Amino acid sequence: LAPVHVVGGGLAGSEAAWQISRRGVPVVLHEMRPVRATDAHSTDGLAELVCSNSFRSDDPVSNAVGLLHEEMRRAGSLIMRAADAHRVPAGGALAVDRHGFSAAVEAALTAEPLVAIVREEVPDLPPADWANVVIATGPLTSPPLAEAIRAFTGEDSLSFFDAIAPIVHKDSIDMSRAWFQSRYDKGDGADYINCALDREQYYAFIEALLAGEKTDFKEWEKNTPYFEGCLPIEVMAERGPDTLAFGPMKPVGLTDPHTARRPFAVVQLRQDNALGTLYNMVGFQTKLKHGEQTRVFRTIPGLENAAFARLGGLHRNTFINSPRLLDATLRLKARPALRFAGQVTGVEGYVESAAMGLIAGRFAAADALAEVLSPPPPTTALGALLNHVTGGADAKSFQPMNVNFGLFPPPDTRTRKGDRKAAQSARALADLDRWLGRVEAA
Ligand code: FAD
Repeated sequence: LAPVHVVGGGLAGSEAAWQISRRGVPVVLHEMRPVRATDAHSTDGLAELVCSNSFRSDDPVSNAVGLLHEEMRRAGSLIMRAADAHRVPAGGALAVDRHGFSAAVEAALTAEPLVAIVREEVPDLPPADWANVVIATGPLTSPPLAEAIRAFTGEDSLSFFDAIAPIVHKDSIDMSRAWFQSRYDKGDGADYINCALDREQYYAFIEALLAGEKTDFKEWEKNTPYFEGCLPIEVMAERGPDTLAFGPMKPVGLTDPHTARRPFAVVQLRQDNALGTLYNMVGFQTKLKHGEQTRVFRTIPGLENAAFARLGGLHRNTFINSPRLLDATLRLKARPALRFAGQVTGVEGYVESAAMGLIAGRFAAADALAEVLSPPPPTTALGALLNHVTGGADAKSFQPMNVNFGLFPPPDTRTRKGDRKAAQSARALADLDRWLGRVEAA
């Protein structure tokens, strides 16, 4: 059997290599450290955690990332096995001893006879004779490879700068204050949810924005320029108190049906997923600290009880426009020998990245064995995340995403509100077990 080449030995690449070798397929894992460093990694170890040591909530019933943990465990994840073996006390969260964790991942892959680990940078698109490749080079993909991917996929298809606007669960928006309308009733006239602010509310909001505590740029981030098109809202507000009222908060072409008047300013939210369960705050990328975002954004009429699926942020990130570029099994449509995995596909976080490595590894192994593997059902956390990046998300506004219940199809309408997550979680695990059973039978 020809080997699968996995490029990048981070969270996703390590998991992909493991999954491939478990299926009896040889793997060459190419990791550039220590030959070439990144701006955030500080060791040579595989699966290094570059910042926090937390895999977030480990509760599979009420938290989507906890559910993802459980699904990955059931799918034989190396990342979860190493995390469980090196967990440190963290309440309901799964936090790990980062060195023990990374060493365990590296030891398992080193001991696996089907895995060859090569310490080298892959500086260009892989050669044509690598027929089955998983690119898992992460948010800090080395510049030559990033440039090669950009050149191949097209100018607009690789973001180097991650401007993240908050995303709100639709069912937490108070529609007795907000309303559906597009500016000048364009499109089908109801593509946006609008929250109106009067003069007083607007200036109070600007003041809160300017006073709110911001996160500092890391040294290496300071050289990353802002793009004029995605300035953080607080930077716009610093240019003058009315800048936002003439920018993303301009009220033109809108009438508030509750007052029958044009509002003084408006916050627009645009549907973010095909299911219509998530809405992103248009133009609201921000460097406010997370607690401050929750506090300040809940002063917006209609968002008083907003539940955030993701908060805003800004840091260097390399990710492709997966909904446009990838097929349902994470292969580049324009060159199917190349499959992408991890954060570079537009998921966000250690667990989500490893999860995309797990799925990519299984797909790559199936290809090597000439088997057909259907994607995990969209009712599972693995499937919901995969479905989001390969088609569920809007390609025009695609931004990195954490796993959350808004990505799942809603539960049965008869389910009581307080039982919804538990119902989604139980359905996910039952469907995952069936999918895993199918894999074993294949
Ligand atoms: P990585 O884990 O980064 O792995 C990619 C690997 O590819 C690296 O080992 C790199 O050396 C290698 N590589 C790159 N280019 C090449 C090449 N051309 N050839 C060969 N090898 C190459 N997530 C969280 O959940 N919590 C956090 O607190 C957190 N903090 C973060 C802080 C920063 C500054 C950054 C940049 C990211 C942070 N993230 C955090 C996101 C986190 O990095 C990712 O979720 C996760 O590491 C992504 O996994 P990955 O496997 O896709 O990429």
